[in-house]
Amino acid sequence: MLNTPELIRRKREGKAISVEELKEFVDGYVDGSIPDYQVSAFLMAVFFQGMAPGEAAALTQSMLESGDRFDLSDIEGPKVDKHSTGGVGDKVSMVLAPLIAAAGGIVPMVSGRGLGHTGGTLDKLDSIPGYRWGLDETEMKKILSKVGCVIIGQTDNFVPADKKLYALRDVTATVESVPLICGSILSKKVAAGTDYLVMDVKTGSGAFMDSVSRANELAEGLTSIGRALGKKVSAILTQMNQPLGIAVGNALEMHEVIELLKGKGPDDVREITLQLCAEMLRLAGIEEDLDSAYTKLVALLDSGKALEKFTQWVEAQGGDPRIVDTPALMAVSSQQVDVLAPHDGFITSIMTRQIGVAANTLGAGRMAISDPVDTSVGLLFHRKVADWVKAGDPIATLIHRDNKGVEQATAMILEAVEIGDEKIMPLPFILGSVLG
Ligand code: URA
Repeated sequence: MLNTPELIRRKREGKAISVEELKEFVDGYVDGSIPDYQVSAFLMAVFFQGMAPGEAAALTQSMLESGDRFDLSDIEGPKVDKHSTGGVGDKVSMVLAPLIAAAGGIVPMVSGRGLGHTGGTLDKLDSIPGYRWGLDETEMKKILSKVGCVIIGQTDNFVPADKKLYALRDVTATVESVPLICGSILSKKVAAGTDYLVMDVKTGSGAFMDSVSRANELAEGLTSIGRALGKKVSAILTQMNQPLGIAVGNALEMHEVIELLKGKGPDDVREITLQLCAEMLRLAGIEEDLDSAYTKLVALLDSGKALEKFTQWVEAQGGDPRIVDTPALMAVSSQQVDVLAPHDGFITSIMTRQIGVAANTLGAGRMAISDPVDTSVGLLFHRKVADWVKAGDPIATLIHRDNKGVEQATAMILEAVEIGDEKIMPLPFILGSVLG
């Protein structure tokens, strides 16, 4: 029988915890025999002491075994996925999943709703009329076999240990711990049936990991724990010191997704998507090297093959395929107002988290899980770091519903964007990688 106070004390003092103890601890939390207050204390001890690689792998394995696991062994092809640590304007998944499926990969993507300043993939998909993300395993597998990709929500018994632990971390200031983040992400990805995973570790003022050194630490943790679980994991550090692309908000971002699938769209999202996809194809052995993978992906995107796959996927999950030719079917509010540059100068920095919060203030996201989301509102952020602006130029356009949040969002954006005299270099899209 586990002596929980003793376990907490040992972790507090940085002493080793065994695989068996971690399993008993996770199982006890899920079945309710270990209460929140003891788990909270343990999480805080982990936050300060960290975990040895073996401990982090054991924690992940125990979380993974706490609920359902999708068995995709009867579907042919490499099961390959991407996961982002979350940013502002991140609509990569909706371009990447059909692009990888068009290239021969099987993408069993399980996504979540947005919380805090970051948007959620399921909220973005909610702007497609008819789209259903609440599929069970049988339906998911049918679509995966036929189309090659799905994007669904978590089923009821999907990694229950993470559901409970994540909610507790959220209210005990223990989210930003590398072993806890690794356990949370990898347990869900492995439970979904993924064998090859590319992590998009967002880095900067709009990300969990605001410095390159913290992002590198997470990237190293993810690849090594992935390896300990018998999975191949690579991590790419991508820019989040400015919003990704132009659109921030659900239907607006889906409109940008369709542009990207038509071979257009903003350079930063296109390039980051292509780089993540190229690494997915290399890691999964679909292409021999990054150069050949990249060339193949550009051809699939620019020839309309990825768009064709997108249409099949959306239709298979109940969505209206006419959105491809008529994106206006994903309703965007017609009420708009510009946020204007207060004076001439170069954009020297953007507090990107605040741009995400501004979009949420308009109704595009939620701060509490029960908040409603309006998929038709958000903002278009027109400028990047290093751009020159003249006084009165629009920096952003707010797409709102009856002025809700407009005043606050305008103030937040003006506060978030620094305009100075110093000419600086545009920000790189990719900041590093740890390849598996
Ligand atoms: N995303 C997750 O799924 N879990 C974390 O802990 C952090 C980001």
